[in-house]
Amino acid sequence: MTAKIIDGKAAAAEVRADVAAGVEARVKAGKSRPGLATVLVGENPASQVYVHMKQKACAEVGIESFGHVLPETATQEEVEDLVRKLNEDPQVNGILVQLPLPKGMDEEKVLNAISIEKDVDGFHPLNIGRLAQKGRTPQFVPCTPDGVMYLLKKNLPTLEGVEAVVLGRSNIVGMPVALLLVEANATVTICHSRTKNLPEVVRKADVLVAAVGRAEMVKGDWIKPGAVVIDVGTNRVDDATKKRGYRLVGDVAFDEAKEVAGAITPVPGGVGPMTIAMLLRNTLRSAEMAG
Ligand code: NDP
Repeated sequence: MTAKIIDGKAAAAEVRADVAAGVEARVKAGKSRPGLATVLVGENPASQVYVHMKQKACAEVGIESFGHVLPETATQEEVEDLVRKLNEDPQVNGILVQLPLPKGMDEEKVLNAISIEKDVDGFHPLNIGRLAQKGRTPQFVPCTPDGVMYLLKKNLPTLEGVEAVVLGRSNIVGMPVALLLVEANATVTICHSRTKNLPEVVRKADVLVAAVGRAEMVKGDWIKPGAVVIDVGTNRVDDATKKRGYRLVGDVAFDEAKEVAGAITPVPGGVGPMTIAMLLRNTLRSAEMAG
């Protein structure tokens, strides 16, 4: 059996097109153009690339972006002051503080300073707390987990009663994905570095979400035949045949797993493109909620 390959690029393009249409309709109706403020502290090259990608994606769907760059030497107070200023700015509907922040800075305090109405990354403790409570709706769902759920819902008739296994329990991926799956009435097992008999646990999964950050750790014979596999892992492995000297692989051994799974995301081209698409969608939603 060869799995259906889940095309994250196509799904992301679909979301972006919806957002672009939503922005256009809003502006035509005389309402404000949605705006996203990015806050970059320091000169981390990967963070610079991510911020640039987000700004470019905003431009493509008609969302205004406001780039703020602070030096590596900025104080905690300066970063929080900027966030508070952006909270008050009516042109700004979403605030994205690019993580990680420079060493020594209290990340939680900075995220806490973001107004919950503008927390388009969904990392504010109140948003995560609401996600964990029955009957409460978070203002925003974190973007990568939201993208995972989008792909799952597109590829499964229902998640109700489905055996789901989430590999990883991080604040940004594993835990919110698990909470969203519970909300969708799946039966969820969360695995982490202390889980015993991992292959056995994974073999029970009708839905497997892998977010561990270990290159090709999940082998083909860990996968239940027909399972839907969403691979969030993005890992660099050395590859002398590539110009840049490495290639990206997921947490799942794709070539083996695709022979067993019913559907699987590739890396790259699976979950990756969904994250920014969901950020754009959250920014438009925020503008719509603001009026
Ligand atoms: P973290 O390092 O924060 O978390 C990894 C999790 O995996 C932890 O819960 C850890 O367990 C668990 N883990 C680590 N090793 C093992 C193991 N051998 N067996 C079982 N569990 C293990 O990673 P993130 O959640 O931030 O990211 C995970 C992956 O997803 C990375 O490859 C990252 O690059 C990628 N990613 C991709 C995104 C995208 O596509 N847009 C966005 C964000 C992340 P414990 O808690 O016990 O330490």
